Amino acid sequence: MPTFDTLLRDLRGTIPEVDPAGLSVEIANGKPPAVIDIREADEHAQGVIPGAVHISRGFLEMRIEKAVMDLETPVVLYCAGGTRSVLAVRSLLELGYANVRSLSGGFNGWKKAGLAWEQPATLRADQASRYSRHTMLPEIGVVGQVKLLKSKVLCIGAGGLGSPSSMYLAAAGVGTIGVVDDDIVDASNLQRQILHSTASVGKAKVDSAEATLRGLNPDVVVDKHRTRITADNAIELIGPYDVIIDGADNFATRYLVNDVALRLGKPVVHASIFRFEGQLTVFPANGSPCYRCLYPQPPPAEEAPSCAEAGVLGVLPGAMGVLQATEAIKLLLGLGDTLAGRLLVYDALKARFRELKLRRDPTCPTCGDGVDRTKIPLIDYEQFCAGPKH
Ligand SMILES: [Zn+2]
Repeated sequence: MPTFDTLLRDLRGTIPEVDPAGLSVEIANGKPPAVIDIREADEHAQGVIPGAVHISRGFLEMRIEKAVMDLETPVVLYCAGGTRSVLAVRSLLELGYANVRSLSGGFNGWKKAGLAWEQPATLRADQASRYSRHTMLPEIGVVGQVKLLKSKVLCIGAGGLGSPSSMYLAAAGVGTIGVVDDDIVDASNLQRQILHSTASVGKAKVDSAEATLRGLNPDVVVDKHRTRITADNAIELIGPYDVIIDGADNFATRYLVNDVALRLGKPVVHASIFRFEGQLTVFPANGSPCYRCLYPQPPPAEEAPSCAEAGVLGVLPGAMGVLQATEAIKLLLGLGDTLAGRLLVYDALKARFRELKLRRDPTCPTCGDGVDRTKIPLIDYEQFCAGPKH
């Protein structure tokens, strides 16, 4: 039986290694290998090589395929001093990775050589517990969760759509949620606007929203905007946010949000609801296709559904608002395929989703050919919905 020392000595003779200077040159040359930090979480928290992916040694064989899918991809493993990584390289060679090396001297050697390192994104202990079902998804991880905590989403409206979307965003740990609404809570709202409760009837919706969202997750900062979005304040309101959730109940606001978002290059997650049907799409940050490609003209006032009279199934905005929150999180983290260019139509009575392709209109007044988006005029249309909000 070989002792550990003799095993290690024999392995060092066969396992390919790279020294810190060599690895830094490969990284600087723009074709970096996949660098995997195999140390334990507490070691990782002390500092990392920029760009490295953290997979603790104990999970390496299980998780390497998610981090490095192609067996031909060059991989460099590092630990603290270059011993554990030698043993780990052997394991990856057995899994079929063709080009795996160990960083000689490990992270300590890297630091001693004076090379750049950084403090990794970390969560507090209570956050690690709260967001554990996120961080165990490799597509999110601690890095993604920290990104969510630093993100800002603006919900236009704290009503049927704004309720579920803001609540799920708060639960997910989106760090700043702006809420724009000038209304007060009415008893007729409670059939669907789950941000508000019977006790908040008569109070400002933004105050009720803040209490609910902060109660759900004290990590979240709620920016209360007790106002109506207008051409005068729209740029100031939308400017600070990464993603806009349009939960407006009228065409005037939707056009304005669209136009401002195009000027500022912000993505909008749009939804609308009517009776038993909901619609959802994403207008991406580059703005094409946009809301005006979908609805070039505001409908004549007599054709626009009167919001006071239009009924809506109470759970419907719940379904659509949750989908809005989902798209917002995907946009914030750069995950998956968003609904940009696709309109999802949900028929609750038939329990059926349909998808329509949206095309950019080259003659669109706001995203068409030759349009200078920085000069898109902001217009306050007449409210199409004269009655109380739905
Ligand atoms: Zn357009």
